[in-house]
Amino acid sequence: MTNAAPHTALTIAGSDSGGGAGVQADLRTFFAHGVHGLVALTAVTVQNSLGVQGFTEIPAEVVRAQIKAVASDMGVDAAKTGMLATAEIIHTVAGTLDEVHIGRGTDTPFVVDPVAASMTGHALLREEALEAIRTELFPRATLITPNLDEVRLLTGVEVTDGASQRQAAEALLEFGSAWVLVKGGHLYDAEDCVDLLTDGAETIELSGPRIATKNTHGGGDTMASAITSALANGADVPAAVSAAKRFIERCVAEAYPLGAGVGPVSPFW
Ligand code: PLP
Repeated sequence: MTNAAPHTALTIAGSDSGGGAGVQADLRTFFAHGVHGLVALTAVTVQNSLGVQGFTEIPAEVVRAQIKAVASDMGVDAAKTGMLATAEIIHTVAGTLDEVHIGRGTDTPFVVDPVAASMTGHALLREEALEAIRTELFPRATLITPNLDEVRLLTGVEVTDGASQRQAAEALLEFGSAWVLVKGGHLYDAEDCVDLLTDGAETIELSGPRIATKNTHGGGDTMASAITSALANGADVPAAVSAAKRFIERCVAEAYPLGAGVGPVSPFW
């Protein structure tokens, strides 16, 4: 007997020893969408609910070899990046994605979550590396998914309302991705959580309830991997983002306490 293979999604990201963010969040999100997860590990973080104590990056050539190994044999229906740690890894990932035909201008969608720091404020990216994400990854991206802190670092725009959120989205599009999703979740005084999705021609506002919980660890990773899962399953970008928004709302609503600090969003429902 031979069963049909599921779609595949590749995460190029770091490990979270606490199991709430990083590749751990990506893999469980892929699983929840019936998608087979492939992994190119970029870094090993040492962290728990109280924060990130440190990280060690994987040699760039090993990151490249992981991507080549799975893409050449198993096939990749969609890919995403999370924590990339260094400019050298970013540069290597960009070149490798070209080699295996993933990203803008190919048939394989590519989502860039420009992870710069954890919500507890610990850097997950060496300082010079943000520029490499902007110049080397954004032009290859089908979609980028910055939160408001990342928007400020990338564009200098401080998002305080809908008008500045639109202004930030326009500035981000200039870096060359096909679509931009500016997530409004960190606009804490807003009543709803409004995300703005645009490709320059079409602009979609996705609104959802703000859910009161301190346990939101891994939320950004889970959102980006839910989008990537839907893309792997054949959805277009607006459909993938709107399905992912419903998925993350449920994960945040079901988030649980674990440890003395910030607990993870939940895959159990
Ligand atoms: N650790 C890893 C490996 C991550 O990839 C991320 C986010 O992308 C984090 C930690 C931070 O997660 P959060 O900001 O949700 O705490």
